[in-house]
Amino acid sequence: MPADPSNPAPPAPAILRVAILGSTGSIGTQALDTIGHLNALNAQGRHPTRYEVVALCAHESASKLAQQSGVHPGAALGLCNPAADQSGLSPALLTRGQDAPVRLVEDTRPDLVIGAIVGIAGLSSTLRAAQLGINIALANKESLVAGGKIVTDALFQSGAKIYPVDSEHAGLWQCLLSLEGPQYAPPSAPPESIRRVTLTASGGPFRGRSLAEVQDATVEQALNHPTWTMGKKVSIDSATLMNKALELVEAHWLFGLSADQLDAVIHPQSTVHAIVETVDGSVLAHMGPTDMRCPIQHALTHPHRATSQTRPLDLTAIGSLDFQPVDPLRFPAINMAQEVIKAGSSSGAVLNAANEAAVEAFLKKQIAFGTITAIVQNTLERFDHCPADSLESVLGIHAQARAIATELINSNTAATP
Ligand code: MG
Repeated sequence: MPADPSNPAPPAPAILRVAILGSTGSIGTQALDTIGHLNALNAQGRHPTRYEVVALCAHESASKLAQQSGVHPGAALGLCNPAADQSGLSPALLTRGQDAPVRLVEDTRPDLVIGAIVGIAGLSSTLRAAQLGINIALANKESLVAGGKIVTDALFQSGAKIYPVDSEHAGLWQCLLSLEGPQYAPPSAPPESIRRVTLTASGGPFRGRSLAEVQDATVEQALNHPTWTMGKKVSIDSATLMNKALELVEAHWLFGLSADQLDAVIHPQSTVHAIVETVDGSVLAHMGPTDMRCPIQHALTHPHRATSQTRPLDLTAIGSLDFQPVDPLRFPAINMAQEVIKAGSSSGAVLNAANEAAVEAFLKKQIAFGTITAIVQNTLERFDHCPADSLESVLGIHAQARAIATELINSNTAATP
């Protein structure tokens, strides 16, 4: 059911209780920065909502977590790595172990979960929040790429929503808000007004170079992203365009779009994030600064707006906006995404798992840069695909696909793309 555009947005809450899962990573720290900014506006009477951080969860960065706990002394704390040093953290507040994110969601029952854990480790807590009817500001794309069916089934059942934090999906969501009304949030059936959606990709640090030229690119070169400052995994994924591939699959699950409604285009300036073509031929595009605090803040204030602390977008400084088609030979990840959307079942989880294993191997300098997508393609072809309709089956598929990818990495049979 589309939202009713005649119904105005509900008033902003006076207090919003927020759990940040992955609080010491790139998105987590920017979320805390944005919450600090919004709370300062609130104290000045310039924003109606005060944000109470009720849970902070890290993988193993105890010292950073202790710092964050000092700023938010009431927050429950989680450390996922059971072997992590816990000095500086109050034992009374601390939950330890791999299930810490799920337990924090269950124990604190926040109004909003910020899902900023990196990788498949983020799936179980996203799913638990969805089951409990808690809205999720989602930065963890693996939750939907691997677990799209189980997460969206749970959301449709509970009525909870995803507020996309990934910049392209946040942009797409904002275009759709103008079409569907202020209550609109994914997941949704495909809005009838949409003909096609295009996500933009910067092309990463190797845009314009040939496959042969980047075959043996170093880790340092691949991490040197031209427009965004991001974590290591997503920076490598941007260089292979696997990030865009994962985002196309994510958009499929969020907005109910089919493979032939979804496309990607190279846009080096990263100024336009998403483009929506409506059935009557109009084109809506979302533009914004390349600053993740914009989509994070939008998710925190939706359906309202607050003054941002980010630098305003200056189009005259950018000068021109360029768009180029994606070369499928140079960037095979995009075609892989289209195939995964059509195939469904285990293919999303396999795509994600094989890519995680290949990127880790590249970061450890075990494989060449040019081998990453070949490992993923070979794993997709070798995998005996099956339904991905429970958390256990998704995690099983993930482990099995990683094992196949690791075998390929070790034997180096995929070294020639
Ligand atoms: Mg993105």
